[in-house]
Amino acid sequence: MTDRQWEPVFLTPYFQQNLWGGRRLAEEFGFAIPDGAVGECWSVSGYPGRESVISDGPYAGRTLSAFWEEAPDFFGSLPEAYRAAGYPFITKIIDAREDLSIQLHPDDAYAAEHENGARGKTECWYILDCPEDCKLVLGHHAGSREEFARMIGEGRWSRLLRRLPVRKGDFIQLEPGTLHSITAGVLLLETQQSSDITYRVYDYDRLENGKPRPLHIAQSIAVAAIPARDPARLVRHTDGDPAGKLTELVRCGYYRVFHLPVLSRAALDGADCFRICTVTEGEGWLIMTENRRRPLHKGDSFLLPAGAGRMEVAGRLDLIVTEPVLPV
Ligand code: ZN
Repeated sequence: MTDRQWEPVFLTPYFQQNLWGGRRLAEEFGFAIPDGAVGECWSVSGYPGRESVISDGPYAGRTLSAFWEEAPDFFGSLPEAYRAAGYPFITKIIDAREDLSIQLHPDDAYAAEHENGARGKTECWYILDCPEDCKLVLGHHAGSREEFARMIGEGRWSRLLRRLPVRKGDFIQLEPGTLHSITAGVLLLETQQSSDITYRVYDYDRLENGKPRPLHIAQSIAVAAIPARDPARLVRHTDGDPAGKLTELVRCGYYRVFHLPVLSRAALDGADCFRICTVTEGEGWLIMTENRRRPLHKGDSFLLPAGAGRMEVAGRLDLIVTEPVLPV
């Protein structure tokens, strides 16, 4: 702890206007968002053109990808190819005032081959708020690829789409190929691979600037997981997670995600690599040392440096903490 050179780094998000977005990012988080419908807060992103920016300290004003290049020690000892591919994740808060399109994403292998070497997209959601009787589109009822294609062709959406009930605090891991849609009234935190490849299957025949948005039917049929994954293993409730310690929500080939509910105080340790922390509820303090602390508010995101010593979080809050899983 005595030779620690890095402080946690706080970020200012990039905001994205979307047809289906709302105003909750301003109303409930206090973010200074652009006018109109804003659906996405890219809290921690190094995605070209949609980057978060370091808010203060010696690197204030740098984009996350510039920081990734300039300060490799902060992120830990990473394989060269991993580092060369750029900052690996996007952490977003999504405000869906309306339903999002029915979509899915490819895996790395398909994206590399068909999308100019881009990353695929594994993603996960932590539900921050949703209506009482909320159901998300998660999977489908087709038994074979032929049946999946036929039901899409005939527009039999109510037969095809599987809708699963969710509630506030639920966590869902979406492997590539999982048919999905976030439905109206849902506010969630998304952690995903840094990729923007989405195959849209159905957009409710909506128009954007007088035109329908493009669909990607052939790609969707090619990458869909069929049969769909077991619903019982998709949705995990977190309301029983113990306060004051990290509970692992998922570990996949890209990331580990933990839930940290805090009622008064909790330890927050560094790991071998960097960690991403987002305050999803409440407020309190990040206590770095005896006499250095900084306030935490709902919606704040920060990075912990690799090898950081023990810090504490104090207050009444809820955090999601993510760390990379490196390729073997
Ligand atoms: Zn998605």
